[in-house]
Amino acid sequence: MKWIVSLLFFLVFASSTYSQSSKSSTVIQEISIDSLRLFIRQLSGDTSTVIGGAAYTILSRHKNQAGNDKAAQYIFEKFSSYGLITELDSFSITGKNVVGTKLGVRFPNKYFIVCGHFDTMPSGPTSPGADDNASGTAAVIEIARVLSKFSHDYTIKFIAFDEEEQDLIGSHHFAARALSRSDTILGVINLDMIGFDGNNDGKVDIHSKAVANTVQIANEIFANVAEHSLQLIPRIVASLPYSDHESFLRRNFGAVLIIEDAGDFNPRYHTVNDRFQFLNIPYAHRITQLTAATAQEFIRLNPATSIAKNDNQVDPMQFNLFQNYPNPFNPSTHISYRLNEAGIVQLKIYDVMGREVATLINESKSAGTHSVTFDTNSIDGGLNSGIYIYSLKINSPNGSFVQNRKMTLLK
Ligand SMILES: [Zn+2]
Repeated sequence: MKWIVSLLFFLVFASSTYSQSSKSSTVIQEISIDSLRLFIRQLSGDTSTVIGGAAYTILSRHKNQAGNDKAAQYIFEKFSSYGLITELDSFSITGKNVVGTKLGVRFPNKYFIVCGHFDTMPSGPTSPGADDNASGTAAVIEIARVLSKFSHDYTIKFIAFDEEEQDLIGSHHFAARALSRSDTILGVINLDMIGFDGNNDGKVDIHSKAVANTVQIANEIFANVAEHSLQLIPRIVASLPYSDHESFLRRNFGAVLIIEDAGDFNPRYHTVNDRFQFLNIPYAHRITQLTAATAQEFIRLNPATSIAKNDNQVDPMQFNLFQNYPNPFNPSTHISYRLNEAGIVQLKIYDVMGREVATLINESKSAGTHSVTFDTNSIDGGLNSGIYIYSLKINSPNGSFVQNRKMTLLK
């Protein structure tokens, strides 16, 4: 019996890690640099496009310019063409967000958001905003194009916000309504200025804050750079309140901002020269791949959980394996988890090849929150820097559940 249980555990674990990495690799490959480049050029007026069946060149997306409504229509038509439920979320005479929704097949009422603002500065008739923020908007559209082809357990919303440049009006409107409806938001990734990398060093900032699951989202993004071998150098920094993620943080929703390195910031920002020709498209492409792979992790049940013994409709949010802290770590880190009921708990560490590194817990535990320290000094021969997976398995009267998370040892 014991042998069967551990064999089952191994199969469950193996299937979860392999199917996860193969599926997100597919998404990484499908994010196209050519379509990303074209969307940025069309949004920033570097080339014309077709909107409402007629040729049009978007010269300005400032809220008071005709191109702002045209850009909203352009995004609307893109989302619709991918089969998304698409809405114009109007909040004033001039303001409208564009929201594309792909419903989850099992938990349609819980959603993840990938967003960016499409309006621009300066206020005149020439306001290309190629970096700020055609780059992020184009990434949102490209991620929508790719993720719309897959079915997922949770809903994902792709949102292009308007009037970010007027103190985040569009995102405040959306987040306030989400809060008043008591929406369950699994997390937000906001992309704002992901196209400029003047020295081509690949540095990218991830803005994080201790609000809801923000730190976990930031850590996932950080770990995915290495996991998918993306040529980026991520840095997690304290969140600044100058883009649309702030509207969510302020209402206690987990939200991060991904933005180009603050030390190599676009010098043409908010000028008539924020043009396509000054962008680093391979850099924007890698950030788009990173965002797509991370977002997909948040809208899929762990495949292991879905084959749990008794009830394949159990929502894994019913028990929580929290992100380790600190992360990245050296030499030790804390891992916490919460049980809604007593059960037999097994917590193991694996390397990315699926080899077991350590067993931290293997005993029954009461309901409530528990914590354990993982100290790499206790491992014979030590451990190399890299990504490790910690896997929590719970056997309770209601079934058996597994949840995995990643952590990074950085020596
Ligand atoms: Zn911006």
